[in-house]
Amino acid sequence: MLSSDAMSRRGFVGGMAGTLGYLSVRSPIDFLSRESEPGAPPSRTPEDEYDLLAKLHYNENPYGPPESVMRAMTKAYKYANRYGYPDGGIVDAIAKHHGVPNDRVVLGAGSSEILDVVGSTFASDGKRVVGVEPSYSYVYSHVASVKGSPLTLPLTEDFRQDIQAIISVTKKHYRSVGFVYLCNPNNPTGRVVTKHEVKQLLDGLPEDVPVLIDEAYHHFVEDSSYATSVPYVLEGRPVIVARTFSKIAALAGMRLGYAIAPPEIIRLMTPYISDSINAVVKHAAVAALADTAAQAQVKRVTLELRKQTTSQLQQLGYSVIPSETNFFMVHLRRRVQPVITEFEKRGILVGRPFPPMNEHLRVSVGTADEMKRFMVAFKEIMAKREA
Ligand code: PLP
Repeated sequence: MLSSDAMSRRGFVGGMAGTLGYLSVRSPIDFLSRESEPGAPPSRTPEDEYDLLAKLHYNENPYGPPESVMRAMTKAYKYANRYGYPDGGIVDAIAKHHGVPNDRVVLGAGSSEILDVVGSTFASDGKRVVGVEPSYSYVYSHVASVKGSPLTLPLTEDFRQDIQAIISVTKKHYRSVGFVYLCNPNNPTGRVVTKHEVKQLLDGLPEDVPVLIDEAYHHFVEDSSYATSVPYVLEGRPVIVARTFSKIAALAGMRLGYAIAPPEIIRLMTPYISDSINAVVKHAAVAALADTAAQAQVKRVTLELRKQTTSQLQQLGYSVIPSETNFFMVHLRRRVQPVITEFEKRGILVGRPFPPMNEHLRVSVGTADEMKRFMVAFKEIMAKREA
């Protein structure tokens, strides 16, 4: 099962080489020749080509880290040759940020590591993870790789997670369920599970079933019916909240995420933690947590661009799933894969297919310029008959 975003990201270099190779001969944006003729400017490097792509496929922050974080990273490079170095107090900073004791915090190299560790701890060797599909299927792939298996449920008609169904299926398969996975807001739909529904879920499940609540897109939510689930950890429920510095904090390439969980759950997870986080990102993350103004600005611009783009699509007659994140899904009313390929030919990378939603395209919110490119290409591609 190598279909998730993250899995395909692991093959990113190979995949991108393919895309770039394709672009270098076929793309309309390929206005520079790769052949170096005498007196011609030097041909583009792979980095130049990468920079030219509109990257609307991985829900990244397109602006990069703010000045405060760049400064912190630059200062931290002096620790590049060390194992034991001052880490900037990253665990303290996270614990303080959430108002929890330090023993409720565990770091991972990206929240992907946290998701892996939860899978390895609770759902290996025949155990099951219960969740919906489509969701962040990386979790299900990892569980399968450690010989567990996913038990997935469809979304409701309005693309929400069916809390009652999750409770029933978990109870029915109680003996084999290792944990429940709830992505909130959900990737790829962008829809939230309300705080009332989260409570229903936790109250309705057998009380010893761990629940992994993935809040990767927490910072983009406006809906007041949503809330973080961190307080449940303080109540002592078996809840693991996963967070990442990859999205609003723009540190995807630096790899840092964390879990907030009860100490006894962290103790079970610890043997699987790689402890492989680099010095630079620890300092970057402390600065990122402190720079709330920069995060507010990213949220403001991102939501503005999402609203602008989605209303343009709606004016063209396409329905869009209401999103609370830095991405959205538009219903194409045709198969999504050929459309993805057409975007790629134009140097625009958009989300992969998310079965069974085979007519929905997931689009990350990029810069204003990238969203303009997206809309121009969208009109051009959709004006043609389905291939
Ligand atoms: N969780 C969700 C829902 C995601 O969409 C992603 C990445 O796209 C991750 C977790 C993993 O992020 P990272 O490992 O960069 O923290």
